[in-house]
Amino acid sequence: MIPAKIIAKKRDGQELSTYEIRSVISAYAKGDFPEYQMAALAMAIYLRGMTDREIADLTLAMVESGETLQPVGSAIRVDKHSTGGLGDKTSLIIAPMLACMGFHVPMVSGRGLGITGGTLDKLEAIPGFRTNLDEAEIAKQLEQIGCVITGATERLVPADRKLYSLRDVTATVPSIPLITASIMSKKIAESLQGLVLDVKFGSGSFQRDASQARVLKAKLQAIGQVAGVKTSALISDMTQPLGMMIGNACEVLESMDVLRGGGPATVRSLSIELVARLLLCIDPSNDIAVLRQRLGSLLDSGEAFSKFEQMVRIQGGDLTRLAPLEKETRVIAQPMMRGVLTEIDCVTIGYGMIELGGGRSKKEDVVRPGVGIRWLSPLGTVVTPGQTLAIIYSNEIGTASTVGESILKGLKFDSKSTREFPPLWDAN
Ligand code: URA
Repeated sequence: MIPAKIIAKKRDGQELSTYEIRSVISAYAKGDFPEYQMAALAMAIYLRGMTDREIADLTLAMVESGETLQPVGSAIRVDKHSTGGLGDKTSLIIAPMLACMGFHVPMVSGRGLGITGGTLDKLEAIPGFRTNLDEAEIAKQLEQIGCVITGATERLVPADRKLYSLRDVTATVPSIPLITASIMSKKIAESLQGLVLDVKFGSGSFQRDASQARVLKAKLQAIGQVAGVKTSALISDMTQPLGMMIGNACEVLESMDVLRGGGPATVRSLSIELVARLLLCIDPSNDIAVLRQRLGSLLDSGEAFSKFEQMVRIQGGDLTRLAPLEKETRVIAQPMMRGVLTEIDCVTIGYGMIELGGGRSKKEDVVRPGVGIRWLSPLGTVVTPGQTLAIIYSNEIGTASTVGESILKGLKFDSKSTREFPPLWDAN
């Protein structure tokens, strides 16, 4: 293999062969294909794209760069993956729900990236919660309670770990072929039989545009099919935060409310819908209305909450010591802010979270679990000056005020809006 020849081929818009893709990824994972050449190839892929066949080859080569999680017992293995969004905490709700239904859920999750929070950071707001389980611990926990949420082990898809860090610093993250291979390689390595994808769009996610999200959804599902994983997907709205709570301890609290049958209707209904779509995909003879009802009762009865408590306990966490929320600062509508709230710039809220210390601007930053935002004003709220639109939790009052001011600048109002807002989710 001559790396420069492969890079030039992609640079010139040609299709790479299966052999070329496999050689590059295998060499890269072993350290034999240097980072500078991989950076050039990633940029060529970003600019030229890949055919469906190339994406499939790239995904499978990435899976083969490491080991896969081996199934334990006879339970059907399933998972949910979200492309990430502001206030998206549904993983904490869905893993226990699926385990209650007898599935095995080996949920390998990540940390916060850009403006979207990470499931592992959220769970680490629970003192003692371990997110670095090894393969044997994952298998044992699946046998014991059916679900686990942990970080990727060293041996799982090492090519993605390297490539993702490289993409982060070479402006090549927003490439549909690279995103598809990155997401699906990690899910295929979990040896799943079923997967549901929550593909998000809007300012609170990294796909701003619904049509791009649809393209990504189609590519992800196509790879699922190639790999023999029954894959369903929803497109979901992130033109506003999901639910009311944003931040690590904040989102654990809201997830627990939903797991006990309460919490915001949006978080509850998206969680139920994602699980229902997964179950329907596994067994198309299911009736979706019956599924929704059954899933709702798992939440209302507290069954899903008990499973969550079990998972936290087994992974070493102590829910009674959840990080306390920091001091409150109110974000108040200014004199000119009157009318229907028609637009929320979630990017400003996300960067605000990073400024408060609830997210990272550098990989090595340590997050503050007790900072966060309670969002009180969904799109369509009729606002009058003086109204509290959000509450910021931070012991640094000066920073909280600055963040509050920038959040206010990202809001738009209309005196008599008849604007239609996107539905929370869409299966097409
Ligand atoms: N999430 C991933 O795991 N990979 C990407 O490339 C983007 C989102």
